[in-house]
Order: sequence, then structure tokens, then C-alpha cells
Amino acid sequence: MTAREFSIEIIQKLTSAGYTAYWAGGCVRDLLLGKEPNDFDVATSAPPEQVRDLFGKRRTLAVGESFGVIIVLGPKTAGQIEVATFRTEGEYLDGRRPESVDFCSPEEDSKRRDFTINGMFYDPIAERVHDFVGGEKDLNRKLVRAIGVPQDRMEEDKLRLLRAVRFTALLCFELEPATADAVKIMASQIVVVSAERISQELRKMLAHPQRASAMRLCEELDLLAAILPEVVDATIQVSLENWEQSLQVLDRLDVASFEMGMAVLLSDVRLDSVREICIRLKLSNQEKESIMWLVQHQGCLDQFPEWTLAEQKKLVVQPHFEQLFEIEQLRAIVQEKSGQPYQFIKSFRSERTAEELCPPELLNGRTLIELGHRPGPKFQTWLKAVREAQLNEEISTQEEAIALIKNL
Ligand code: ATP
Ligand code: MG
Repeated sequence: MTAREFSIEIIQKLTSAGYTAYWAGGCVRDLLLGKEPNDFDVATSAPPEQVRDLFGKRRTLAVGESFGVIIVLGPKTAGQIEVATFRTEGEYLDGRRPESVDFCSPEEDSKRRDFTINGMFYDPIAERVHDFVGGEKDLNRKLVRAIGVPQDRMEEDKLRLLRAVRFTALLCFELEPATADAVKIMASQIVVVSAERISQELRKMLAHPQRASAMRLCEELDLLAAILPEVVDATIQVSLENWEQSLQVLDRLDVASFEMGMAVLLSDVRLDSVREICIRLKLSNQEKESIMWLVQHQGCLDQFPEWTLAEQKKLVVQPHFEQLFEIEQLRAIVQEKSGQPYQFIKSFRSERTAEELCPPELLNGRTLIELGHRPGPKFQTWLKAVREAQLNEEISTQEEAIALIKNL
């Protein structure tokens, strides 16, 4: 059973029990756009306790019961479905979360949602859209428009500032002018949103094919200056041309990971600032290490053909080398530089097996001890020299390695 089928089953059961139940929000938007939704959220008139009773305590999770949200657990293939009671939200005191919720009609529920295209319901049984906010019209006009007074809605929840940019860019829509004005006026306040949620938005934007237009829009609406002031500073100090080139690289990336996107964005930022940014955005250690490695090695491939064999081999076996190569090759294209080093690297790689690039060691600490040497700091120097010579294809046997150490 798919998530879609399971969510219809849930809606049927709620309807048979006398409640109203619809698909709600993002999935309605995606269905009307002819896209496969990420998840099928259900909204219903049934209060949370009734939802739990209907599906059984063991098959539900009361993760957000006080907000009217119950998770219904489905078969493995269907996953879990969020069933939320139609609700209005009380005042937002912390700029992120409502203080209280009240259960209400579908119409009132739609008014608390962020953008008109996200504010619709769909009844999959009657096959009918319930649109109280003009969402269908805006979908057809390709417009992202806040529901209600834009600035008030952004004040309530500042995450909407970034969501506005994400939906606009990723759907290739326009941002309705009054909504855009509100985003620009409020942009500096995005920092009250937790780092985790900001980076979650950045991940979604940078891992998407429309990542370049998302970043351009962030820049135009002053959100970039609020989230990544270092990038804006570097653009001013280094050059505007580099920023334009970075956007072009972002645009051309074939398979983009979040890390690659960040590395391109941060290409003119000093490495210690890059580290600080990753920490500030609470990225994972793995993300931080990849981003820093990519930024650190940007620009180095142009000299690759002049390096020693050992240097070349050591770089190409690095875990993020492929990503670096893709970024750098694109940068060379947008800067109209020679593609010769990249052709060289391509043949260099295709002419060698993985074992040739990273052959088994000829010697290690244990073999040195077996040969009667006393462990000490010299071991490291010797082993390094042996490895270097081996990768440079000057030696290829243990005997040659031992002879080399004797000469040291
Ligand atoms: P996607 O899942 O593709 O990122 P989505 O629209 O489904 O987009 P979700 O975060 O899954 O976004 O939220 C589901 C729905 O809940 C939205 O479509 C919107 O109606 C509502 N919603 C989510 N976040 C907010 C918010 N910050 N303010 C107001 N409404 C919101
Ligand atoms: Mg969703």
C-alpha cells in the first residue's frame, strides 16, 4: 500500500465516522501541479482524542496532541500519515510557535496557513478542491502570495520568510509584490529562527535544481545578508563577478549535494569563517568537513598537471574529489578558462585502476620492528618517504623500500 492509498483509507474511515476529512496543504498544491507529493497530510474535524480512538492507541502517536496533530502509523510501504484537526492558532509569542490552538472550521484552518498555494484542501472521495484562500488562482498564475496581511504573517512566524523564497524559486513562480516587500522589510529577523530550521531550508534549496534562483532571490530580498553575511561581505570585497559566477556554477551543477552548494556559495569566504558558519548553522560534522575540504581545495586543480605523481594520486582518492572536480570544471567553463587541466585529470583517472592510485603499503610500523628497528619518531619520516617514492613509481617492492630507508 502506498502513502497515498493509506491516507485515502484514513479519510474514508474518518468520513464514515461522521467527520470531515481532506488532504491538506502541500500535497494538494503538488497534486494540482501534477507532481508527486512528498507526504499526504490529512486535516479533519475530528478532535485528536477521536482520531486516536478511531485508529487505536497502538497505531497512533500523539506527538503534537495539544496542537491537534496525531500520527497514524501505516504499513511499512505507506509510512506514517499526519492527521491534524482543523485549527486556528493563538498568538505567536516567540515568533515561531503559537501559544495555543483552537479547533475550528476548514475555512478558518486554511487562513492560518502560510501561502495561498499551500492553503487548499482536497477531498479525494468526492474529488473536489476546497479553496478558501484563492490558492488555485495563484497556482495558475504561478504566484506565491501570503494569506492575509503579508507582514503580519511574517511577524507571526519568521520561518515563512525563507519558505516564501523556497517555494517561489523551486516552483519557478513569482513572489507576489506585497509579499516580496514584506520579506525584504523583515529579512533581518530571520535570525530569530533556530539554526536547525534555517539550515533545513538551505538544504532543501541547495539540493534542488533551482538552487541558483533560490540563492539569487535570497540575495535580492536581503535574506542572504542575514543568514550568510560573510558571503555578502566577500562579494563586496572580492568581486561581484565572482558572485555571478558562483550562481552560474550552482545553476549548472548536475547532481548537487547540499555540501557542494554550500562550498560554491562560500568559495570567497576565508576558511576559518567557513568553519564558523558551519558551526553557527549547526551543520553535522560530516557536512562541515566536506564543505571545508571543498572550499579549501577550490582553485587547486588548475596546477594539477604540474604536480608529482604522488600528489596527484593522493588528491584523486580523496572522498570528495569527484565533487571538487565537478565544481572546478564548471567554474573553469563559466570563467572561460582553459579546460586542459580537466581533460588531463580525466585521462589521468581513466588510465589508472583504484589499486594503482592507492596501492597496498610496502612497509608499515610492524615490518620495521620485524626488521630490527626500534620504534621512534623516525618511523613516520621513513614510512612517509617510502610511500612517496612508491606513489611516484620510483620503487615497487619491499626490498627497494628497505634499500631506500638505508639510504636515508
Ligand atoms: P514540502 O513538504 O514540499 O516542503 P509543504 O507545503 O508540504 O512543502 P510542510 O512544511 O510539509 O510544507 O507543511 C505542510 C503544510 O502546513 C503547508 O503546506 C502549509 O499549509 C502548512 N505550514 C507549514 N509550515 C507553515 C508555517 N511555517 N506557517 C504556516 N503554515 C505552515
Ligand atoms: Mg510537506
